[in-house]
Amino acid sequence: MDKKNKKAVVVFSGGQDSTTCLFWAMKQFDEVEAVTFNYGQRHALEIECANQIADELGVKWTLLDMSLLGQLTQNALTRDDVEIVHNDGELPSTFVEGRNHLFLSFAAVFAKGVGARHIVTGVCETDFSGYPDCRDDFVKSLNVTLNLAMDHNFIIHTPLMWINKAETWEMADQLGAFEFVRKKTLTCYNGVIGDGCGNCPACQLRKAGLDTFLQTRNLEQMS
Ligand code: ZN
Repeated sequence: MDKKNKKAVVVFSGGQDSTTCLFWAMKQFDEVEAVTFNYGQRHALEIECANQIADELGVKWTLLDMSLLGQLTQNALTRDDVEIVHNDGELPSTFVEGRNHLFLSFAAVFAKGVGARHIVTGVCETDFSGYPDCRDDFVKSLNVTLNLAMDHNFIIHTPLMWINKAETWEMADQLGAFEFVRKKTLTCYNGVIGDGCGNCPACQLRKAGLDTFLQTRNLEQMS
């Protein structure tokens, strides 16, 4: 891809996936901005963490208020009194209906406003959760809709769409960002930066991917 005059907006939460995407975007594009959505997350720390990472990487960061999401739905990410439950074959209680759809649409309006046509998001179809608005079909469909809605040629990039958590760690490693992502990102539902609390579903998923990646890397180094 021709890197010249290419500007991208990264949908950025300060977690492992979107931070890896931020590093990816910094390699791909001339200019990168990050947008973070405030939707009444359990932990204000998430927003602070995103802000710090963007600052440290010298990326312009904008916080957009989406607190109306908390008004629309009741779920474990925005409500302390809803328990975090993940059962196989069901959407977890942390699922926020339509969240990604809304985030991408707002990110597109923002992107056009700052003269960017590239939008980068860390959504992933191989993820265990199966959120419908994180699927490849949906993202492609929305891309067309946004182009028609705003008469613009957006390109939505989803570098993590078809890879698993271990491969996301591998990508961070290839981008020279493994230690950064491991130590500075926040994925944990209990608000513990880095390796996290170790017990919540997000930590377990992150750790399983990390262990697999480290094993593979060690095997490669030994051979
Ligand atoms: Zn945790």
